[in-house]
Amino acid sequence: MSVRVPAKVNLQLSVGPIRDDGYHDLVNVFHAVSLFDQVTAQHAPRLEVRVKAAPYSRVAVDDVPVDEGNLAAKAARLVAARLGVEPGAAIRIRKAIPVAGGMAGGSADAAAALVACARLWDDRDRPVLTRDDLVELGAELGSDVPFAVLGGTAVGVGRGERLTSALTRGTFHWVFATADGGLSTPAVYAECDRLREIRGEAAAPPVVSEALMTALATGDAKGLGAALTNDLQAPALALRPSLERVLDAGHDFGAVGALVSGSGPTCAFLAETEEDAGDLAQALDGAGVARQILRAQGPVPGATVV
Ligand code: ATP
Repeated sequence: MSVRVPAKVNLQLSVGPIRDDGYHDLVNVFHAVSLFDQVTAQHAPRLEVRVKAAPYSRVAVDDVPVDEGNLAAKAARLVAARLGVEPGAAIRIRKAIPVAGGMAGGSADAAAALVACARLWDDRDRPVLTRDDLVELGAELGSDVPFAVLGGTAVGVGRGERLTSALTRGTFHWVFATADGGLSTPAVYAECDRLREIRGEAAAPPVVSEALMTALATGDAKGLGAALTNDLQAPALALRPSLERVLDAGHDFGAVGALVSGSGPTCAFLAETEEDAGDLAQALDGAGVARQILRAQGPVPGATVV
């Protein structure tokens, strides 16, 4: 059973006050882009995970755990427990999504493993688990997992896991600049809290950007570029000042929008047309500001059996 699953970029990531449970209140507009990991699950006597870079992808996979720490293994165990079966599966992950890059690669693999293992172990004629059940199981694994099951463009509230699909028109053209070495998501949130404390800023309750929703619904790339926001960008730049130069380069080369993707360090650039995206990618590549320049389109569907 083979499943293809997309990376995400956050079009809006508004970080509100810390809740009683220790999580931040978020408004998170997720957008799935055509950069895919592939997760394959086969019947096996026990659960095992192998991880490789996808052909030609140059993703550094050394830091991805292949034991119980892998989110795909956790997803497989969750599906097995729900179905009351033994978690016997050989899971192979081919990664094209940068690791610890702010594009939710681990969550994507978890979503793909949910779909793959449900198909592998669930009764084909009368499946017990619906896609909604998998979205719900995904929320137990992490707040980015439900979106990777669904894909498209969606607004997440709460910890980011309560999702509503957003209306979009047409296709948006993206260029991504990856960096050497990841940024830890908890470290970036901690830096966000630290910066707010020293600046004496109180976090306002987050609200969905109307300008962003209008740009999405009308397929307006310029409007979308102007409406992109990420509250984790300042802390990511504080931890990795070299990203400023990457964002500046994107602006200089004509991107209609530029921001740090999620908790970084990948930077995302929006181009007005497909042709502009090609030019932008070439210019960024020539400037040598990134480990790798990748192109993608969005929105694309979530975890899909192939
Ligand atoms: P996000 O955007 O959700 O904050 P990210 O893209 O920054 O996430 P991931 O690639 O999901 O980061 O990886 C974060 C950490 O999760 C890695 O350093 C790795 O140790 C761990 N991890 C567990 N399972 C996986 C997996 N299948 N793929 C990648 N990383 C995994």
